[in-house]
Amino acid sequence: MCAVTETAGPTELDGRPRRRPALSPSRAGDFKQCPLLYRFRAIDRLPEKPSRAQIRGTVVHAVLERLYELPAAQRVPAAARSLVEPVWGELLEQAPDLLAELFSGPRDPELAEWLASADGLLDAYFRLEDPRRLEPEARELLVETELESGLLLRGYVDRIDVAPTGQIRVVDYKTGAAPRQVAEARALFQMKFYALVLLHLRGVVPTQLRLMYLADSEALTYQPDEAELRRFERTLDAIWQAILTAGRSGDFRPNPSRLCDWCSHRPLCPAWDGTPPEYPGWPEPEGADGTAGAEHRPVGACAGVAETLVDRSD
Ligand code: SF4
Repeated sequence: MCAVTETAGPTELDGRPRRRPALSPSRAGDFKQCPLLYRFRAIDRLPEKPSRAQIRGTVVHAVLERLYELPAAQRVPAAARSLVEPVWGELLEQAPDLLAELFSGPRDPELAEWLASADGLLDAYFRLEDPRRLEPEARELLVETELESGLLLRGYVDRIDVAPTGQIRVVDYKTGAAPRQVAEARALFQMKFYALVLLHLRGVVPTQLRLMYLADSEALTYQPDEAELRRFERTLDAIWQAILTAGRSGDFRPNPSRLCDWCSHRPLCPAWDGTPPEYPGWPEPEGADGTAGAEHRPVGACAGVAETLVDRSD
């Protein structure tokens, strides 16, 4: 159940781990929302306390990934529900502190309730599509490509379906509430990002981008076109240039908004009378940790369960 990788560009030739600074949809979204938030997450790499909703998203994504390991006929709601507890157990093995961070202990009555709430999201998934009729080409795919500008794009795609005609569909599961304006814009940004990466990797524009909002049993579909993706490429280059400029100077300004209510770093934020830690400097391209802006899938070698907590919260 480990994530697989599809990459291209000069860095794949040397066969070494990729440590160059890269841009992911999540970190690009952070920078657009608040440059200082980007700094805290991508450069300082400050820890963030995960929420129950985030971890539930992680569990549901892992269950849906594993569901497709079963023979098609067995991909039924009961099978998906039966995967919740084992996946949660594996997550705890990889991140044992999670239990204490989220609950008062293994006997916390809210734990069972919380695990059961994952069942509701999985049931919603089955209302949106029948996995017995699908054979995804890839799940939890790490995609990475380098643009002509030298910008490295990197991210994880939940699922890729390829029709017998060769048409590509990119699927992303959302476990948060239905899209409001900000969340929807962020989700579409993410999907265009993946579509652009796939255009570079495979030379074709994905036919459809499909966002599945499990909390509301709703799906949004979107058909990108190449001209739009090329414009989007220029947008990403511009965001990256702004990040590099801030990275050189260390001038990552706070941009307070109502989203500050959900920011883990508010006590360190000057917009809220906090003091940030000393700027550690921009990561060196081949330095000890050049993953600034990368999609983080921490905790363990296998990304299926212990993937990024932040990015599974939406
Ligand atoms: S509290 Fe608000 S302004 Fe400060 S870093 Fe977080 S999101 Fe940015």
